[in-house]
Amino acid sequence: MSAKIIDGKQVAKDIREEIRLEVEQLKRSGVQPGLAVVLVGEDPASQSYVKAKAKACEEAGIYSRVIRKSEAITEQELLKLIQELNEDELIHGILVQLPLPKHISEDAVIQAIHPEKDVDGFHPINVGNMVIGAPCYLPCTPHGIIELIKRTGTSISGKHAVVVGRSNIVGKPVSMLLLQENATVSVCHSRTPDLGAITRQADILVVAVGKANMIGADHVAPGAVVIDVGVNRVEGNKLVGDVCFDEVKEVASFITPVPGGVGPMTITMLLKNTVEAAKLKRIQEKQEA
Ligand code: NDP
Repeated sequence: MSAKIIDGKQVAKDIREEIRLEVEQLKRSGVQPGLAVVLVGEDPASQSYVKAKAKACEEAGIYSRVIRKSEAITEQELLKLIQELNEDELIHGILVQLPLPKHISEDAVIQAIHPEKDVDGFHPINVGNMVIGAPCYLPCTPHGIIELIKRTGTSISGKHAVVVGRSNIVGKPVSMLLLQENATVSVCHSRTPDLGAITRQADILVVAVGKANMIGADHVAPGAVVIDVGVNRVEGNKLVGDVCFDEVKEVASFITPVPGGVGPMTITMLLKNTVEAAKLKRIQEKQEA
């Protein structure tokens, strides 16, 4: 049996078209969603992510402002910039591209972003609301993963979902969202002995580790839905995931490729959150009027 490939690029394109139409409508009512992206330093990967985010905003009709700061910026200066963006009427969402230079506390910067402008969904208030199932901005990559699984037609409820990785950005939040979708969830990490014994129980397997090709066919049960979040550069600058795509696709029922799986969904969900932020602001303004 050969798995169906989950075309993240196409799903993202479909959702971005829905977003573009929504933005058009918002603009007609006098509101243009606006996103500020703050980039500190010269990291090439961060630069290319920021470029991709600005381009996606432009295509969707969202106003974007990329603010580039030198690596020498102090934490105080960066916090002041965030404060200005919190008060900026044209900006509905603020994203600070991570990682930040070592002398700046990422936690302090994330917590300085107003929760209503935290379109990355990393602020502790949004994280807390996500955990209790209250309205919030869902973190982009985990939200994108859930959308991809749903669009395969797979019902998550009652399934055993196994997540490999427990980072605050991917592993933990995606586990929480799967739980909210009524999956039975197991979370594995670097101290999990006999990883394969757990992953082979998965109906839905989400892998977010950052180790090229660590999950082989022997880790996967026949018919599992496999979502590969990993992005790894190997010889020849080639991008590969955490899953051995060629062998696992012979076992799984659905599988995401790398690139072209989860990646395009992350930016798409950022656009979605930015539009939600603009809509929220508009509702608040109407209530105050
Ligand atoms: P982190 O490095 O923050 O977390 C990696 C996790 O993997 C940790 O929880 C770690 O466990 C676990 N781990 C490490 N080795 C093993 C092992 N041998 N067996 C089981 N678990 C292990 O990474 P991120 O979550 O930030 O990212 C993971 C991958 O996803 C990366 O390749 C990243 O580039 C990619 N990514 C892709 C995105 C996209 O849009 N496509 C977005 C974000 C990330 P422990 O906690 O015990 O150390």
